[in-house]
Amino acid sequence: MERVFNFSPGPAMLPQAVLEQIQLDLLDWQGTGMSVMEVTHRGPAFSAMALACEALLRKLLQIPDDYRILFLPGGATLQFSAVPLNILRPTDQAGYLVTGVWSQKASQIAATYGQVEVVATATEANGLTCLPCIGNITKKYRYLYYTDNETISGLQYHTLPIDTDIPLVCDMTSSLMSQPLDIGRFGVIFASAQKNLGQAGITIVIIREDLLGQARDITPSVMNYTLQAAQHSMLNTPPTFAWYVCYLMLQWIDSQGGVTAMQQQTVAKAAKVYECIDRYPLYQPIAHSSARSKLNMPFKLSKPALESEFLAQAEQQGLMNLKGHRLIGGIRPSIYLGMPMAGVERLVAFMVDFANQYSS
Ligand code: PMP
Repeated sequence: MERVFNFSPGPAMLPQAVLEQIQLDLLDWQGTGMSVMEVTHRGPAFSAMALACEALLRKLLQIPDDYRILFLPGGATLQFSAVPLNILRPTDQAGYLVTGVWSQKASQIAATYGQVEVVATATEANGLTCLPCIGNITKKYRYLYYTDNETISGLQYHTLPIDTDIPLVCDMTSSLMSQPLDIGRFGVIFASAQKNLGQAGITIVIIREDLLGQARDITPSVMNYTLQAAQHSMLNTPPTFAWYVCYLMLQWIDSQGGVTAMQQQTVAKAAKVYECIDRYPLYQPIAHSSARSKLNMPFKLSKPALESEFLAQAEQQGLMNLKGHRLIGGIRPSIYLGMPMAGVERLVAFMVDFANQYSS
């Protein structure tokens, strides 16, 4: 079968060049006579790759020297526990901005470990369509947590939610590498890899050094940032293949011009889809225009009975996995870094045809 355009929210489409490199490397990686899946993570080839991967991420995101970078197993969901276990001391309180499903999950999990206060919400009452305004925060939260891009409802912060000295902890699972960041504004950033950085199984954690060293005694060692930082994320056998794919993705991002180029591509791709959504009344966007995600663009059809027809016709054109999340329904194109402009153009052409066919 011909390759399709995969609009899945994750695991997501990878650039062709990355897949071809994996194919080339598969039987003999780096002259080892083995695949990367078969080499020891403690050997010279893998250690060199791990170091190069970290250095490249540091270069691409301009991560200052007083931040440590970890490559951890367990997905972003494990970080919902790891964050409070590592940095929320028993007497502290953490503030959470609950703007969608993922930040809600994170706040509920954190509340099982310590004191959590929901500072602001995008509620069901407004259909999770707007991001909350946050006034001045006077409380001394240990950290303030938010999700940069809520993947399900397609809400994204376009600037930092607040200017504060409180360490910001940010889940960037669906947006890391899609724009330059001022890392110095954050205490912790984490993102699992299967959307913008390759394959499921590995999660990047970027943490300011002064937040290390305070994990609770009960923290499982693999989740302990301090122990993992001391062991260069090799406290146990790491997800080696996912780590290698992550490195290939970073090399691909670098070859494209880095995160500035990623931002330009992301903005251009999103603009094409939103222009089309806005042009045809058949398409009803979910997120308010002030908070629209540049990576996930959920919308409904004004004639909901046409949804299955839309999905079926899209699939016939090689436009796959456009079905919206079960909590929201409708259609949701997810357009991460690996989706080429050609895929977006094909989607938009299809949406135009479909709207012309069914708008009357
Ligand atoms: N946070 C966000 C914003 C997500 O989109 C997801 C997954 N879709 C998660 C967390 C959970 O990630 P994982 O499956 O890697 O645990």
